[in-house]
Amino acid sequence: MPAKPQPEPSEKTAAAPAAPGSGLSQVQRALRKLGLVRDIDFALYLPMRYEDETRIVRLADTRDGDMAQVEGVVTECEVVYRPRRQLLATIDDGSDTCQLRFFNFYPSQQKQLAVGARVRVRGEMRGGFVGRQMMHPTVKAAGTALPNALTPVYSTVAGLAQPVLRREVRSGLARAVLDETIPVQIGLRGAWDLRAALSFLHYPTPDVAMATLEDHSHPAWQRIKAEELLAQQLSQLQARLERAAQRAPMLPAPAEPVATSLHAQLLAVLPFGLTGAQRRVGEEITRDLGREIPMHRLLQGDVGSGKTVVAALAAARCIDAGFQCALMAPTEILAAQHFGKLVGWLDPLLAARGLRVAWLTGSQKKKERDEMSAAVESGQAALVIGTHAVISEKVRFKNLALAIIDEQHRFGVAQRLALRGKAVGHLEPHLLMMSATPIPRTLAMSYYADLDVSTLDELPPGRTPIVTKLVADHRRDEVIDRIHAQIAQGRQVYWVCPLIEESEAVDLRNATETRDELAGTLGEPIQVGLLHSRMPTAEKQAVMAAFTANEIQVLVSTTVIEVGVDVPNASLMVIEHAERFGLSQLHQLRGRVGRGAAASACVLLYAPGDSGRVGEAARARLKAMAETGDGFEIARRDLEIRGPGEFLGARQSGAPLLRFADLTTDTLLLDWARELAPVMLQKHPELAQRHIDRWLGTKAEYLKA
Ligand code: ADP
Ligand code: MG
Repeated sequence: MPAKPQPEPSEKTAAAPAAPGSGLSQVQRALRKLGLVRDIDFALYLPMRYEDETRIVRLADTRDGDMAQVEGVVTECEVVYRPRRQLLATIDDGSDTCQLRFFNFYPSQQKQLAVGARVRVRGEMRGGFVGRQMMHPTVKAAGTALPNALTPVYSTVAGLAQPVLRREVRSGLARAVLDETIPVQIGLRGAWDLRAALSFLHYPTPDVAMATLEDHSHPAWQRIKAEELLAQQLSQLQARLERAAQRAPMLPAPAEPVATSLHAQLLAVLPFGLTGAQRRVGEEITRDLGREIPMHRLLQGDVGSGKTVVAALAAARCIDAGFQCALMAPTEILAAQHFGKLVGWLDPLLAARGLRVAWLTGSQKKKERDEMSAAVESGQAALVIGTHAVISEKVRFKNLALAIIDEQHRFGVAQRLALRGKAVGHLEPHLLMMSATPIPRTLAMSYYADLDVSTLDELPPGRTPIVTKLVADHRRDEVIDRIHAQIAQGRQVYWVCPLIEESEAVDLRNATETRDELAGTLGEPIQVGLLHSRMPTAEKQAVMAAFTANEIQVLVSTTVIEVGVDVPNASLMVIEHAERFGLSQLHQLRGRVGRGAAASACVLLYAPGDSGRVGEAARARLKAMAETGDGFEIARRDLEIRGPGEFLGARQSGAPLLRFADLTTDTLLLDWARELAPVMLQKHPELAQRHIDRWLGTKAEYLKA
């Protein structure tokens, strides 16, 4: 029930003059916000629900809770001021009377409800002890013809009234060219045709089974979902073909292992042997690098599965072939960790070849950066590690051939695009993207059709599984005992505070207080450190170094440690207000422990909300954490809890999400689209292009990135 007055039904909104210089009217701007520009966009903008204005019912036949449309004569109308200002009117349709109540109203509404007027009223019927009543019904003059279809209700934005949007969609739909793009002979035999399906979904006949519209199972919906899935499959396939037409430097591995190669030497200095999964994935990458088609590979592996080594070995292949490699991480802390590790392994080996590892970040002093940039430009820096500063325009590579992106979902499309043209001449660098938040297989196949996926499905040996405990906040004391026990054994502890407020300053204060409180409770000589995203980089690095050296035993932090931090001696992770974290975030945090041989534990402290209980979704997340340590299972449950839209939305900026189809339930349609896409692209390329443009428009650009 709308609490605010409906905008005056005049054309005021539509006719509002354009702001000077903007060139667009307010309505046009609002439409643009909804992605409504081309006629076809309007046609494909389907209602979120419908109202039934096709029938007039007798007041006497309505029941409490019914949405009802009635017609009657106004018998009373007055503005009363108690208990608050409101407009009260009564109508009589001969079968009964009904009171209409408006807390916000325009003078025009009062006029419309003048005593004696015949009106058509639509709203939710409430039967109170004073009799029938409607709050804020819509009111029209009676007697106009009844529509013969349901009335669509579209999702809208401020500044765009529903009647205006309805009118715009109606004329867009009428103008849109809706010729079939799916060739009949290979397409949807017996399905609804496109125009019929769209017309029906905008204006369904009143006899439709409403449930089939709501759950998108109606044949008209099936047609639309098939169209959408086909567009998605086509555009991804097209992106893949386009990539196949690009060229990258070939980085072939020697036919026989060469003991003097950097690759072999790196393997020799590693303090451990590779897992079977690391070896297999290494071979997949080696095969890709040997081709002249740019690699576009996603390396997914649970936290702690050892992705860094795989990346280092790929870098070694690249350097062996005489080219440069770049490794980027989303945060400076993570980049610094990679740098620390890789410099240790590679620098001595590179130095013997007159080469080095370079470090590039935004916070670097100019002198240092100039020096690093020079090394990159001359090619002396065979490996460049850093944040996205690595791909800034100013950095010129001599011959970049491989770019590795850690925690790829944190990078936007623009940053990936910036890599283009960084290779030699017209060549593109090979791309290896790493992610610790695995994407369930079905989603990976549908959303990343232009990506090859490698999976590290095996943890390095000697890890003991992490025991996860859910502990109610009032049992904090037990957690303190646990911390003491761990530290007594020479181990270390992470304590993560949630982001509570919008403001980082407040979070910082909260984390600072937690640090002080813990320091007090734990007492001397235990050192409690603090890490927060607001701290200057140098300070952050100093804290991390002290924690790595076990000069700090307990590290209190906000989620800055979420990604990649690697301190194997830490064996206990405490997460405060765990109910506020997302599932994959919790899993990532938990992955910070269990990296050494010591038995590790993760304590999820939770506090019931105001209702005295943890919400349903939060409970499902905590339960999943307690029940499984498998990243793929976690991802599957996360998907279940959140649904694919949100699940991917948080991960993949720029990936066009499906508006109508649901990958988890529309599997038959998805199979159909996946089979049809290659045939259509080959036999009917123009139709395929028209189909993609129609459905994705400018969004298709993103997919190619
Ligand atoms: P992630 O996949 O989360 O990035 P890392 O690459 O940081 O994982 O590896 C986690 C830890 O496991 C590191 O300390 C790394 O040196 C170690 N590690 C990697 N591979 C192996 C292996 N095959 N055997 C033993 N330890 C390994
Ligand atoms: Mg990592």
